[in-house]
Amino acid sequence: MKKFDPATAINAVQQLSAERGVNPSINDSATFTFPKGQLMTDTFHGETEGYYLYSRHWNPSNFSLCQALAAMENTEAAWVTGSGMAAITCTLLNCVKKGDHIVASMTVYGGTFAFLNNWIKRYGVDVTFVDTTNLAQVKAACKKNTKVIYTETMSNPLLRISNIGELRKIADKYGAKLIVDNTFTPMIFSPYRLGAHVVVYSMTKFINGKNDCVAGAICADAEFINSLINVNDGTAMLLGPVLDSYRATSILKNLYTLHIRMKQHSANAMYLAEKFNSIGIKANYTGLPTHKDHKLMKEQMNPQFGFGGMIAIDLKTAEKANRFMEAMQKEGIGYLAVSLGYFRTLFSCSGKSTSSEVPEEYQKEMGMSEGLVRFSVGLDNDIEGTFARMHKILKKEGFVKK
Ligand SMILES: *Cc1c(COP(=O)(O)O)cnc(C)c1O
Repeated sequence: MKKFDPATAINAVQQLSAERGVNPSINDSATFTFPKGQLMTDTFHGETEGYYLYSRHWNPSNFSLCQALAAMENTEAAWVTGSGMAAITCTLLNCVKKGDHIVASMTVYGGTFAFLNNWIKRYGVDVTFVDTTNLAQVKAACKKNTKVIYTETMSNPLLRISNIGELRKIADKYGAKLIVDNTFTPMIFSPYRLGAHVVVYSMTKFINGKNDCVAGAICADAEFINSLINVNDGTAMLLGPVLDSYRATSILKNLYTLHIRMKQHSANAMYLAEKFNSIGIKANYTGLPTHKDHKLMKEQMNPQFGFGGMIAIDLKTAEKANRFMEAMQKEGIGYLAVSLGYFRTLFSCSGKSTSSEVPEEYQKEMGMSEGLVRFSVGLDNDIEGTFARMHKILKKEGFVKK
């Protein structure tokens, strides 16, 4: 496959305001006028270009952000939503009807897991959870009525990697759609190019990177995006999870620095992972050759952005994990908070927070310990100093000897 650089692809998108300002204007109108009645009719049916009808359908600010996201993902089109969950639920609901079946990763984001396990089943859609890194398990779970295979490129919190190309082959055999959540690894992976039909994001995390809003995105071919926004039966149109245009404009500006941030998150995470290991604290990081999926990740990744900003270390008990996190927060190393992709380091104990919707038996099966501390490593300029402070705490608490 030809090399692809998502950062350069975004940079090639030219978006000036109507007055030639370097940033596209914020267009905060909910409705739009037409010089001719016929143009309104045609726009309602999606038959015009450059005309807007009503802001839930399309608006210029969201359109600019979608153009940049589509460039990054190398898809024909994109759609943005008011949250990552809205992007995920609208995408899933647009692909299934009563009597259909979904095969999903059992390590998916807690909200996605709850939606699949508790909500969608009420409407007669059957879901089988499997380990999507085990292709034999995926194959065995697929049935005649399987319409979706759902996975995350990098899983939470154990950072396992999905083989997107192989999953696509299985999906094709059943005429199913492969939907991939790439929230942990924007730019690092280009799942659409690897074989996903649809790529979904929580832009709340790395893409926006500021923790000042919640937002989501769906990237796919034009046919799928058009079906999502069909005025008669498209989920994104009818469930109405529209992203506010002020937010879309602010996320767009943050998107243009994403590649620099990803490189720094990755470099800092790699440094910490190696250092943790050197003092006898086992770090789970895909950049280390000892990680189960290191090789698979290297085969699929765009090479310049590193292995991502997420690390997990195992302190065995929740009590120890809490003690360590509280001390780190006190030291100003970062914040004891859920979420990720922020410029400051965030840490949380996965089993008791972001994965708490996942039943304990699944947590055990995926090898999750209750003392697992997940880090979203920040953009620290002095990561050596950051580690030195972590090390001091680990020694003081008696978690390491040297
Ligand atoms: C946060 C997150 C979501 C949900 O996104 P929201 O923006 O909080 O609705 C979905 N998937 C992953 C992997 C996430 O980390």
